[in-house]
Amino acid sequence: MIKVNENFLRLQAGYLFPEIGRRRRAFAAANPDAKIISMGIGDVTQPLAPAVVEAMKRAVEQMGRPDGVHGYDDGGVGYEFLRRAIAENDFASRGIQIDIDEIFISDGAKCDTGNIQELFGLDNVVAVSDPVYPVYVDTNVMAGRTGGAAGPGRYEGIVYMPCTEENGFVARPPARKVDLIYLCFPNNPTGAVATKDQLTRWVDYARSNRAIILYDAAYEAFISDPEIPHSIYEIEGAKEVAIEFRSFSKTAGFTGVRCAFAVVPGDLKAYKKHGAAVDVRPLWSRRHCTKFNGVSYVTQRGAEAVYSPEGKEQVRRTIQIYMANAALIRETLGSLGYTVYGGVNAPYIWLKTPKGTGSWEFFDLLLNRAHVVCTPGAGFGSAGEGYVRLTAFGQPDSVKQALERFAKL
Ligand SMILES: *Cc1c(COP(=O)(O)O)cnc(C)c1O
Repeated sequence: MIKVNENFLRLQAGYLFPEIGRRRRAFAAANPDAKIISMGIGDVTQPLAPAVVEAMKRAVEQMGRPDGVHGYDDGGVGYEFLRRAIAENDFASRGIQIDIDEIFISDGAKCDTGNIQELFGLDNVVAVSDPVYPVYVDTNVMAGRTGGAAGPGRYEGIVYMPCTEENGFVARPPARKVDLIYLCFPNNPTGAVATKDQLTRWVDYARSNRAIILYDAAYEAFISDPEIPHSIYEIEGAKEVAIEFRSFSKTAGFTGVRCAFAVVPGDLKAYKKHGAAVDVRPLWSRRHCTKFNGVSYVTQRGAEAVYSPEGKEQVRRTIQIYMANAALIRETLGSLGYTVYGGVNAPYIWLKTPKGTGSWEFFDLLLNRAHVVCTPGAGFGSAGEGYVRLTAFGQPDSVKQALERFAKL
């Protein structure tokens, strides 16, 4: 008899986006003339940078010639040309020394943040922010690192760290001991960023508790404040305790192209039961090369072009378009009397619902009265109740139109 992996049966229904879709379709069916605008999507709308398109075309033409064949990329960790470009442009330029052997190219930060937990024992205590990107939690449930449901979207055995107005949506290290800590800055969904001091507290905590920080920096390119760290490795000692995840998805519109990377420093250790230290980097290398065979040559050439002078400029302009949307959303909603967070160093605006309206109640009101779709904060965790997430990834015209409708609410 084939037995199912019962850990999967503990997963609560992936409820948020299906439910949004269901309500949106029901509204559209009842109101066929309404022009619905989505401010809920976490996906890009601007075209790929021309420098990327050109590089990918050149690469595919090269592969069509007898002398340009590229098969498996050696071991699947990524071509050296891309890892060098990353080490120089993302890290050395900020005074961080990352060796190319510490960089692992992949097809997404979702996979990487989901897969990394395989390296760590099932008896580790996992800490996540609330609200949270659901991937961190669900992959730990699948692995069997949690108990059953503990309220909507929550599981026994996970330490949830509420991110609220009071703490500026940045969790402090908990009083209790945890082992595996997921942090995401700039944050999806709240748009919050962590300062150097806040990250230093986390790094110090991890060093003194021999914990590991999994740092998701997928939105690093949206940081505008020069004081805000782009990488956790800007914090002293972080290379001993942190893995960083980056992605070309939001930075360069690669959500449909697929390229990302993880940085696993050579100094990073995990421990055996009786305390003997083990290097983590070779474990990730082994895991990556066993289960993954590399990102396509064409895609890696496209990603490399993001770091060319033209690529940098083009990508910067696209991000400016999104951040101009974000600024407009913030200012307009602020002047209409709403309390809004985020949107300065992140493409997400975290809107406090008026007069304690529930997240879903406000979602329905916005859909019915303004024909605008948002994402209810409660869907990201119980501390998200009383908020909705608006994204700045829309077309500027749609964003303006949506805001005009807000004004008439
Ligand atoms: C979009 C996003 C990513 C990027 O995922 P990819 O798989 O690289 O497209 C990673 N983390 C968070 C929090 C995100 O919102």
